Amino acid sequence: MTIETKSRTDVELVQSVGDDDGIVHAARISLAHDRSVVEAKERKGLINYLMAHKHGTPFEHNSITFRVHAPLFEFREWMRHRVQSYNEQSGRYSKFEPVFYLPGSDRPLVNVGTSAKPVLAPAQRTVIKASQARMVESFHESWAAYEELLALGVAKEVARNVLPVAVYSTMYATTNLRGWLHFLGLRTSEENATFQGHPQWEIEQAALDIERELAKLFPDTLEAFNANGRVAP
Ligand SMILES: Cc1cc2nc3c(=O)[nH]c(=O)nc-3n(C[C@H](O)[C@H](O)[C@H](O)COP(=O)(O)OP(=O)(O)OC[C@H]3O[C@@H](n4cnc5c(N)ncnc54)[C@H](O)[C@@H]3O)c2cc1C
Repeated sequence: MTIETKSRTDVELVQSVGDDDGIVHAARISLAHDRSVVEAKERKGLINYLMAHKHGTPFEHNSITFRVHAPLFEFREWMRHRVQSYNEQSGRYSKFEPVFYLPGSDRPLVNVGTSAKPVLAPAQRTVIKASQARMVESFHESWAAYEELLALGVAKEVARNVLPVAVYSTMYATTNLRGWLHFLGLRTSEENATFQGHPQWEIEQAALDIERELAKLFPDTLEAFNANGRVAP
């Protein structure tokens, strides 16, 4: 029996509608302006103004969809974001793939802070190796149990009971730019942020990947987001 381990979340842009100009057009409608060519300087200035003064609604007239391949524990955090729309592969109708999340050697592993305020630091090499080996052993055990239950004729929706939160799933996640900026504000922890959250490492890496994609699609908005303390408008 073979299982696969992965140490990252895959985030792939599926589709996007809208751009920085669309945000300017939505804002200008309040002055009954028609759609017209937007000069670069005006676009940057207006978007920065909207961001700084928390005029959030012009950032809602667009849509960005990502396909996400991540372990279940990460989806549990991700799906707390209620302004995103989700569709996920079904553990009732399809069999899981034997793919499990294994923290890589670069993932901070030990808590040197407190329970209430964790500060994670790299572990010693012996701890990394021992924990990786124990996790892989556990993945093998749970996958074998899953296969055995399926072979007994137990339905997928019940057999999945034995799988750990490290098993990977796939989903589509869609929201508008305002929703994604809110997600970035909570799920990243950059030095220039006004609000310093403490997101879990895995979802933060995924959020940073999403931010890189958004910066290509909406460069002026992402610049303004960073210039204004990474707070969603
Ligand atoms: C570092 C970190 C640690 C966390 N730890 C825990 C934990 O220990 N336990 C736990 O349960 N959760 C935890 N969470 C999840 C957290 O409580 C939120 O559910 C999650 O961050 C989504 O935030 P949100 O509600 O602002 O976002 P969204 O659900 O995307 O909502 C966006 C915005 O819409 C508005 N909104 C949405 N729904 C409502 C509503 N029903 N009523 C009023 N306004 C609404 C709010 O303004 C909200 O900010 C944690 C989150 C982070 C980032």
